[in-house]
Amino acid sequence: MSPPAQPSMRPTGAGELITDTLDVVHDRFSASEGGELASYIPELATADPGLFGIAVASVTGNVYVSGDADVPFTIQSLSKPFVFALALRDLGLEEVLVRVGAEPSGEGFSSIRLEPGTGRPPNPMVNAGAIVTTSLVDAPDEAARFERIRAELGAFAGRELDVDERVYASEAATGDRNRAIAYLMHGAGSLQADVEGTLGTYFRQCSVLVTARDLAVMAATLANGGVNPVTGVEVVEEHVAERVLAVMATCGMYDYAGEWLLRAGLPAKSGVSGGLVCAGVGQFGLGLFSPPLDARGNSVRSVAAAQEISRRFDLHLMHRPDRDVSALYRSTRVDRLRQLAHRTPGQRRRLRDLGSAISVRAVQGSVEFAAAESILRSVDELPSPLPDGECWLILDLSRASRVISLGAQLLGGLVERLQSQRVHVVVVDPFERGLVTGVEHRTTTFEDAQRWCEDQLLATA
Ligand code: GLU
Repeated sequence: MSPPAQPSMRPTGAGELITDTLDVVHDRFSASEGGELASYIPELATADPGLFGIAVASVTGNVYVSGDADVPFTIQSLSKPFVFALALRDLGLEEVLVRVGAEPSGEGFSSIRLEPGTGRPPNPMVNAGAIVTTSLVDAPDEAARFERIRAELGAFAGRELDVDERVYASEAATGDRNRAIAYLMHGAGSLQADVEGTLGTYFRQCSVLVTARDLAVMAATLANGGVNPVTGVEVVEEHVAERVLAVMATCGMYDYAGEWLLRAGLPAKSGVSGGLVCAGVGQFGLGLFSPPLDARGNSVRSVAAAQEISRRFDLHLMHRPDRDVSALYRSTRVDRLRQLAHRTPGQRRRLRDLGSAISVRAVQGSVEFAAAESILRSVDELPSPLPDGECWLILDLSRASRVISLGAQLLGGLVERLQSQRVHVVVVDPFERGLVTGVEHRTTTFEDAQRWCEDQLLATA
C-alpha cells in the first residue's frame, strides 16, 4: 500500500503583512532630510546619508525587514550593552557596579565627567563607562579579550562578525578624547587595566560590522530573556538580559535618554554610525540604521521610525499589561458542572446536593502579583454544605504559563492555610511542573481531580 499522500503546502505570504507595516513606516521617514554625518571619526563621514533600514526579529525567530537592512556598518556604541552583558556574566552585578555606575549622565556620549569620590564613570552606555566594561571582560591578553567580545557580539547576532579595519584605523588615529577619558579614569582608579591596550580593544569592538538585521536579532535575544530566537542558543542568563535592558532604558540614548523613555518607552541604544537597537521585551527586537545624526548623536530617521513603531505596536513600557485577560478564567463548583460518566443514579443525586463542597478555580497566563491576589481573594470564602465545613478546592493550573516566585509563595501559603482548615486542595497540572508546594493531591487532568474530590465527598457524606 502506498503511504498517504502528503498535502502540498500552499504559501499564503501571511508574514508579508508585518513587512508591509514596516514599509509604511520606512516610506514615511525615508524622505526626512535632517541631520549630519558623524565626522569626528573621519571614516564615518564617508557614509551614504540616504541609507535607511529597519528590521524586526520576533522572539519566535522570524525576521522582517524594510529598506537597507542588510547594509553593513560599524556597530560603534551599539556594542556597549552587549559588552556590558559579558562583563556582568564574568563578574556579576555588584563587582561591575564598583567600577562603573548606572546613572543617566544627562551629558553627551563622550562626556569626561566622573563620579566625585569614586572616580566611576556614570554608566556603561557612554564612552567612559564602556571603556571600563571592555577592560572588565576576563581574558589573558588584549587579543583574547577582543576575540571574546567579537564572539559574544556574534552569538547575539547569530553569525560571525568581522571588523572594518579602515574605521578601526581611523578611530585609533583620532580618538584623543577617548584617550583623555581613559587616562583620567586610570588616574582615578576606575580603569585598572593598561590604557592603550584597553583602548585598542575598545576601538576594535566599535569597528565590528553589523546590519540592521543583525541588530534586530541582537535586541530580540535580550527581549527573549537572553536566548537567541534564531539560533536557539542561550547567550546570557535571563537576569543578565534584564539588567542590560534596564540600563538601556535609563541610559541608552545619551542626553536624550529621559525624553526617549517618555516618548518611545523602550530600552534602546544608539550609536554614532546611525544605528539604533530597541527591545520590545518579550516580543521582539528592532534594529534600525540611517547615518545622519541629530545634535545629540542619535540617528534622525531611526529615532523617528522607532518612536512610530512603538506607537503603532503599543509598546510603551508603562502600558498596563494584559488589560483584557483575566487570570482567573473559571470560578465554579462541581454541582454546576456536567457530571462524570460512570456515576450511579444515587451518586448523581448526592453530588447534585453536596457538590457545592467542591470549588474550582482555573488560572491562565503568568501568575504574578495581580493574578495571585485574585486567586486568594476568590477563596476568601468557600461553600460547604457539610456539617463540619469540610470542603475541597481544585486549583487548575493547566493554562498557567508560569508562576513567579511571589505567586508560588502566596499560593503555597494559601494551600497550607486551607489544608489546616479542613479544605483539601488538589492541583491540576498536565505538565507536572510542581508550581505550588504542599498540596494534598496532584493530577494531570481536570477529570481526575474532580473524581478524586467526588470520591472523598461521597465517602464522607
Ligand atoms: N567609537 C565611538 C567613540 O567611542 C562610539 C561612540 C558612539 O557610538 O556613541 O567615540
